[in-house]
Amino acid sequence: MKPQFFITHLYPDEMSIYGDMGNIIAMRFRLEKYGFEVIYQIVGQGQDLPETTDWYFMGGGQDKEQEVIYQDLLKKKKKLSKDIENGVGLLAICGGYQLLGKQFITGNGVDVEGLGIFNVITKASGKNVKQRCIGNVVEECMIDELKGQVLVGFENHGGQTEAGLAGSFKPLGRVIAGFGNTYDSGFEGCVYKNAIGTYLHGSCLPKNPQLTDWFIHKAIEKQKLVIDLPKIDDMIGIKVRECLLQRFG
Ligand code: GLN
Repeated sequence: MKPQFFITHLYPDEMSIYGDMGNIIAMRFRLEKYGFEVIYQIVGQGQDLPETTDWYFMGGGQDKEQEVIYQDLLKKKKKLSKDIENGVGLLAICGGYQLLGKQFITGNGVDVEGLGIFNVITKASGKNVKQRCIGNVVEECMIDELKGQVLVGFENHGGQTEAGLAGSFKPLGRVIAGFGNTYDSGFEGCVYKNAIGTYLHGSCLPKNPQLTDWFIHKAIEKQKLVIDLPKIDDMIGIKVRECLLQRFG
C-alpha cells in the first residue's frame, strides 16, 4: 500500500501565471518517484477546502484576479490558518504570497485584506510598468535546513512587500541578484512554519529541487512516516541552475 499525499491547489483558473503550474508538476513528479500515491485536489471560488491536505499551492496573478478572488479566499481563512499552524506545508507564489500576507494595496489603490498567514504588507508601486520588479533572481536560502544553498527563479511584480509592524518576519532568502520583496530590501519571500511565500516564478520548484524535498520531508515528519526515499537523478535541474548561476549569480 503506497503512502498517500494530498495536494490542494487553490484557484488554478485565476491564480497561475508565468508557468506556476510547473510547481504542481514538479511536486507530483518527485512524490511519485518517492513511491507516494498523489491525490490532487483543486479548490476554486465557492468551494470549501478538503478535509485532508499535506501541501497547499497557490500561484501568482494580476491585480485584477487578486481583487476577484480575495473575498472568497478570506472565507477559507479559518481552516487554512489552522492547517498552517498545525504544520501543513504551503507554497504561495507572488500574487498568492501577497494575499496570504496581512494587506495588499493594488496598483488601482484597492485595499485588499489578506489572510495574515505571513506577517507582511504589500503595496503596489502604481500602474507604471517601469516600476515593476522584473527579471531573474538568485538568492541565498535562509531556511535552517537549506542554509547557504542557492535558490533561483524569475520575478515580475509591482507589489513591494515589507515586514508587518508587529510580530516576527523570516525571509526565505538573501538576494544575490535581482530585486526580491522590494526594489532594495535585499531579502526575498517569507517563511512561517512549513509555509513559504515567494516571488520566485520560473517555475520555482523545478529549478530548486531541494525546496521540493524540504516540503516532502516536512510532510513525512508531520505524518510520522518511516520511509526510505530513493535517489532521484536531478541532472536537468542541476544543469539549469548552473546555467542561471553563470549568467546571474
Ligand atoms: N499582481 C501582483 C503584482 O503585480 C502579483 C503579480 C504576480 O503574481 N506575478 O505585484
